[in-house]
Amino acid sequence: MIDPESILVTGGAGFIGSNFVLDWFAQPAQATRLINLDKLTYAGNPANLESLRGNPGYTFVQGDINDAALVAKLFAEHQPKAIVHFAAESHVDRSIVGPEAFLKTNIDGTFTLLQAAKNYYATLTPERQEDFRFLHVSTDEVYGTLAPEDPAFHEKTPYAPNSPYAASKAASDHLVRAWFHTYGLPTIITNCSNNYGPYHFPEKLIPLMITHALEGKPLPIYGDGQQIRDWLYVRDHCSALRTVLATGRVGETYNVGGGNQRSNLQVVNRLCEILDELRPDSPHAPHAQLIRYVTDRPGHDRRYAIDARKLESELNWHAQESFETGLRKTVEWYLANSPWVDNVTSGAYQNWMAQNYGSR
Ligand code: NAD
Repeated sequence: MIDPESILVTGGAGFIGSNFVLDWFAQPAQATRLINLDKLTYAGNPANLESLRGNPGYTFVQGDINDAALVAKLFAEHQPKAIVHFAAESHVDRSIVGPEAFLKTNIDGTFTLLQAAKNYYATLTPERQEDFRFLHVSTDEVYGTLAPEDPAFHEKTPYAPNSPYAASKAASDHLVRAWFHTYGLPTIITNCSNNYGPYHFPEKLIPLMITHALEGKPLPIYGDGQQIRDWLYVRDHCSALRTVLATGRVGETYNVGGGNQRSNLQVVNRLCEILDELRPDSPHAPHAQLIRYVTDRPGHDRRYAIDARKLESELNWHAQESFETGLRKTVEWYLANSPWVDNVTSGAYQNWMAQNYGSR
């Protein structure tokens, strides 16, 4: 079916992708059809998008971005006006234990999508070529680590990835850039800081700490807990991506961040305080007593900070949530959605955690 108003999303059943899809359909003037291509790895959860069941604008396709024939077929069938590429292996700890999947999905998979997009782009009329966008969703981890006195990452900061995850994302960014400069494919790259919010898989810091604290389990802090991250509420990331898609300049990179630098220890302490307030009768309160220091991650970056002034001044995007309001919303969401948490923390996930983290 040919529909000039459709967009193709990859990895739309993951944390940021599913928030993006829900946010997309929540926009009042959004008439666009959306096709979500997701392999449903351990990190993909179609239950996140249950509310879209029966929505005629939404199509879910289970498949791999490395499947060149499938990707070509989706472009040909749906004739999207854009592709928003989230699909990735995204967990740094997993990339240390098993980097192969990261190279396969993050590098080879992006290459497969770029080739398919290039072939499809060549079939479009000049008017439709003018509108087409390949939006590559990437991370600030490609820039490496900052010393306390360093200025925040800006779009011209040299790449210096330190983990297999960051290296694979850096490689994918370079491919996307090359497909713009070499083949004229209208690509845009966004490099975003750490996201948090609903549907975040509980292997990542914030949801891990909330779910452990609720069960009275230890709250494991890597090293001295002084690693600094720059946090952004996930729906603010989604609005940034919609803005870049609508008004960003092709061939450009935009850094996305909320200006919320916090050490991991500060984040965990604040989460504990919010839980103490919302669950005063918990047998585990005060929750900060559950904090335990564990051996640091190898190659652990010390500090990330994002300079998002280009996106703010050029495209007039601004984050809506403060760290305080976003964190409270997030804790409330996890308290109200315990069946979601029980579901994703069972079976294969438990086994993986036990194998890799033992009693942590
Ligand atoms: P996630 O791990 O929660 O979700 C990834 C999704 O991709 C899952 O639904 C998974 O099933 C799917 N997927 C994995 N391999 C696939 C394949 N080969 N084919 C098709 N689908 C596949 O990740 P996330 O945190 O939502 O991150 C999404 C994107 O945003 C990633 O590219 C990541 O690098 C980037 N990013 C994440 C953050 C963050 O804080 N989480 C920050 C900046 C950028």
